[in-house]
Amino acid sequence: MPVASAHLEANRQMTICNACRYCEGLCAVFPAMERRRVFTEGSLDYLANLCHNCGACYYACQYAPPHEFAINVPKIFAELRAESYVRYTWPRLLTPLFQRNGLVVALAAAVAVAFFVYGFIANRDVSVVFIPQTAPGAFYRVMPHAIMVELFGSVFLFAIIAITMSVRAFWRATGGGPVIVADVVEAGHDAATLRYLDGSGNGCMNEDEQPNDHRRVYHHLTFYGFLSCFASTALATLLHNGLGWEAPYPWYNPVVLFGALGGVGLIIGPIGLLCEKATRDPALVNEGARGMEVGFLVMLCLTSVTGLLLLVLRATSIMNLLLAVHLGVVFALFLTLPYSKFVHGFYRYAALVRFAQEKKAPAIKTTD
Ligand code: SF4
Ligand code: SF4
Repeated sequence: MPVASAHLEANRQMTICNACRYCEGLCAVFPAMERRRVFTEGSLDYLANLCHNCGACYYACQYAPPHEFAINVPKIFAELRAESYVRYTWPRLLTPLFQRNGLVVALAAAVAVAFFVYGFIANRDVSVVFIPQTAPGAFYRVMPHAIMVELFGSVFLFAIIAITMSVRAFWRATGGGPVIVADVVEAGHDAATLRYLDGSGNGCMNEDEQPNDHRRVYHHLTFYGFLSCFASTALATLLHNGLGWEAPYPWYNPVVLFGALGGVGLIIGPIGLLCEKATRDPALVNEGARGMEVGFLVMLCLTSVTGLLLLVLRATSIMNLLLAVHLGVVFALFLTLPYSKFVHGFYRYAALVRFAQEKKAPAIKTTD
C-alpha cells in the first residue's frame, strides 16, 4: 500500500477503534489512541511503532473481515512501521536500501566475505594462511589489530550516527518533548520484558487465535543473545587495550563465555522467529517487509554460526579462512544495520518513551 494510502487507511481504522474502544486494555496502543481525536501522520507512525503485532486485537475485533469495516490493526500498523523506517531514513540518499533490503543484505554479505577472504590471501603467503595459529595474537597475525579496529570502528560509528539521526526525526514527528529519566526507565522495563507482546497476559497469536509465548521467548533469546555478544566484544576491547591481553582467549575467559552463550541464543532465537514467521496467520503479516525481516534474522544466524565455528576450530588450519568469513559477515551486518530490521528496536523504544511521557499529560490531544 503506498505511503499516503497506508496513513489514510490507518486513520480510518483508528477513528473506528476510537469510537469502539473495546480493546483498550490489550496494550499501550489503545490508551495512546484514546488521547487523540485527530490522527496526524506523525501520531499514526507513533502508534504503529508502539504496536508489537501480538495479534490480540485482530482476533478480538467484531469488525474484522469479513465485516464491512474490515478492521485489521496489526496488519495496517505493520505496513506503517515498515514505511516509517523508510520515511525517517538518514541519509535520505540511502532510502532505497530499505526498499530492497533482502537483496542488499545478501549482496553486502557476499561482497564483504569475498573481500576479506581475498584480502587475507592477497596479503599473506597462501601457505601461511593455512598454517594453524594458536598463540595469543593469532588473529592479528592474519589481520593487523589496527586495521580491524579502523574498519569495524568506522562502520559501527556510521551505523550509530545513521540510526540516531533517523530516530531523532521520528521522535520529532511524534511530537515528543524533553525526556526525563523516569520515562526512559519505564520504557526500558517495558521493552526489556516485551510487555506488550503478550496480548494483555495471554500471549501472542501466531498461526491462529490460540495465544502462546513462543515469539516472546525467541525474541528474548535473540535480543539477549545479541547483548551478550556485544558484551563479549566490548570486554575483549577492554582487555586488549587496558591489559594488553590479546585474543584468542581460553574457554573460561568471560569474553569466550559471553560470546558462546550469546552465540547459542543468536542461533536458536532467529531460527525460532523464522519458523514462527513461516506459520503465522497471513492476515497479520505485512508481506512487503518479509525480505527485510528474513534478511536480518539470517544475518544474525550467520554471524553466530561463523563465530561459534571459529571458536571450536580456532586451533586448526581452517581458522584463518573462518576468521575471514566471520569478519565478512559481521562487516556486512554492521554496514546494513541502519537499513535493516535492526532499527525496529530503536523506533519501538522511542515510542515507549513517548507513551510513558504522554501518560502523565492530563488533557486529550487534538492534533498529534
Ligand atoms: S480493533 Fe475492533 S474491537 Fe478493538 S477497538 Fe478497534 S474496532 Fe473495537
Ligand atoms: S500490540 Fe497487539 S493488541 Fe496492541 S495494537 Fe498491536 S496487535 Fe493490537
